[in-house]
Amino acid sequence: MDANINSFLNWSQNQLAQAGVLSPRLDSEILLAHTLNLSRTDLKVRPERVLNESEKKLAEKNVERRRKREPVSLIVGHQEFWSLDFLVDENVLTPRPETEILIETALKCISSPAAKILDLGTGSGILPVVMAKEIPECKMSAIEIDPKALSIANANALQHGVADRINFIRADLRNVDWSGPYSMILSNPPYIPSSDIEEVMPEVKNYEPMKALDGGKKGLDFYQTIIPISVEQLENNGWLIFEIGHDQARDVVALLKEFSCFLDVEVIQDYSGYDRVVKARKETSNG
Ligand code: GLN
Repeated sequence: MDANINSFLNWSQNQLAQAGVLSPRLDSEILLAHTLNLSRTDLKVRPERVLNESEKKLAEKNVERRRKREPVSLIVGHQEFWSLDFLVDENVLTPRPETEILIETALKCISSPAAKILDLGTGSGILPVVMAKEIPECKMSAIEIDPKALSIANANALQHGVADRINFIRADLRNVDWSGPYSMILSNPPYIPSSDIEEVMPEVKNYEPMKALDGGKKGLDFYQTIIPISVEQLENNGWLIFEIGHDQARDVVALLKEFSCFLDVEVIQDYSGYDRVVKARKETSNG
């Protein structure tokens, strides 16, 4: 049977709804637009356009992938963040909208345009790329352990014209010299407690890289590692800014307060009202 854009979208929406996908219409439109190399507006303007045999096959294959709860971002290979387009694949965490709060917080804390900024566990590279674009004179470094993730980060830096301003370092952040001091250290580390991983959505559990998500027993392993090293690697008045899980503010603040040099510790909420970011300023008593 011939399918046109309208009838295919209705069928696809139905399929995805049955599979428990949360936004079946939107996802259907994004997938079909991707398959046909059109925009979502094009789909609305030309609902009667017929799909040829090969388009229909490919479109059905993409709906089937989504039915199995593969994230849309991995099917189409990119994701918007901070109104920019980023390449993603199964080796990196797909950028989440709430991580924009981390960027907003960082931008507000920058006091000198020539800031020297480090991102720990950079993944797809969204943090250094956005910071480099927003602050044209800043110098970015980014540490990432996984070479496959790092090649995505590099491709994103190239795509956005900031590759020459970001020093990507392939290393385990736990045992490499961070080469500070920095005026700002950022991280969206893995923070889901290991025992909660089973409960996260199938899209995340089955398709996203576990090492970008699993933060150990209480989800706090990376904060415990990063905070003491940051004491050494931050300039006086430098900022440490983390993304956190919605119920981790108290624990992360307590970890920071173990070091008397961290002042102005503040928890910031995301647009859903959840605690999402913690920031702290380092101040040394002698300067
Ligand atoms: N916010 C992500 C999620 O819940 C987790 C990100 C992280 O561990 N850094 O899917």
